[in-house]
Amino acid sequence: MWRVAAVRGLRGGGAGAPRAASGAAAAQLRRRLESELEDIRGAGTWKSERVIASRQGPHLHLAGGGAGIINFCANNYLGLSSHPEVIRAAVEALEKFGAGLSSVRFICGTQSIHKDLEEKIARFHQREDAILYASCFDANAGIFEALLTPEDAVLSDELNHASIIDGIRLCKANKYRYKHMDMQDLEAKLKEAQKHRLRLVATDGAFSMDGDIAPLREICQLAQKYDALVFIDECHATGFLGPSGRGTDELLGVMDKVTIINSTLGKALGGAAGGYTTGPKPLIDLLRQRSRPYLFSNSLPPAVVGCASKALDLLMESNAIAQSMAAKTQRFRSKMAAAGFTISGKDHPICPVMLGDARLASVMAEDMLNRGIYVIGFSYPVVPKGKARIRVQISAVHSDEDIDRCVEAFTEVGRKHGALS
Ligand code: PLP
Repeated sequence: MWRVAAVRGLRGGGAGAPRAASGAAAAQLRRRLESELEDIRGAGTWKSERVIASRQGPHLHLAGGGAGIINFCANNYLGLSSHPEVIRAAVEALEKFGAGLSSVRFICGTQSIHKDLEEKIARFHQREDAILYASCFDANAGIFEALLTPEDAVLSDELNHASIIDGIRLCKANKYRYKHMDMQDLEAKLKEAQKHRLRLVATDGAFSMDGDIAPLREICQLAQKYDALVFIDECHATGFLGPSGRGTDELLGVMDKVTIINSTLGKALGGAAGGYTTGPKPLIDLLRQRSRPYLFSNSLPPAVVGCASKALDLLMESNAIAQSMAAKTQRFRSKMAAAGFTISGKDHPICPVMLGDARLASVMAEDMLNRGIYVIGFSYPVVPKGKARIRVQISAVHSDEDIDRCVEAFTEVGRKHGALS
């Protein structure tokens, strides 16, 4: 019966053939959308997507031909996205627990592996409890509204990730935005916010565009002085910053001063997808009752849970992978500086090669790909005007030879386009 209907659909040209909606409103919408798309192209901010025909990893095969491309633009900091043990754990979880839960957590969607992973995340961060989300975007969208009321205040770094900004927009607390990593401004805003019941300082632990690290020690001192809580987004820190990869709070010696951590499973921790909040147990209990992206969205698929769980096991066994990434980061940063380039940030695997000019960043990135090096140029409005750059991201699975080839290509391309004298 099902097969007959499917075959009829195909014969009729119904399956797969796009049908344009008819009517004046649909036509008007189409014109408006096309004009908006034209504006994006005209502004030079169109984002195109390259199609990868292989696994994520240091060496890629791009659809349409490019093979053996060295990849320097994934957040695959520890190279776990294609680690054989991570993949095996995903397959085992898939076979044992199925493709998915067809449900949100509180109705029929919590399996033992979800509980085990939450317990493991809390243990990894040395916190009381943890809660999983479909993404860190969701974790950020869900926390502020659940936690803060109009009686409270949130103080946010002006360069925080879009998902923190959106999460804060959704809550009814009083909003303060302090200048990027500017402790004088944060202190002024904390003084102003004393009139509110509760103050929460929210910052990225490491900022993804600049590879710079929030001054958490100073933030925590101010928080203590003005009786505030500290929230950090650790998407670009979890798994590799700090002596045992716990993150920015470990790196800066303030693990006992940061109250709430949100992070992702979609970057260093296996790279599949998913996010979480970890912190005090009553907060996690409240999120399970009130956080809308948790309550009203499907449970994480077992294969994804399997990946992240294995990634955490590997990191808790040894910090050798994180150390290998740190050594390669150091190699790239020092060789690029010796070649005459300015690299923003310090000691972070996000290595922005600062170029200033948007066109230069774009043509150099294109020319790097012609030499087999995959990097991306960023310009306004993603980064401030005059601060265009090519962002290079180092992974533990890059070889020293990969790093050296990248530096050589930058040197050639930089000379060709006048970025180096
Ligand atoms: N926070 C930061 C700082 C990020 O860089 C990202 C991802 O780009 C997110 C949150 C969202 O993470 P996810 O991909 O898990 O939604």
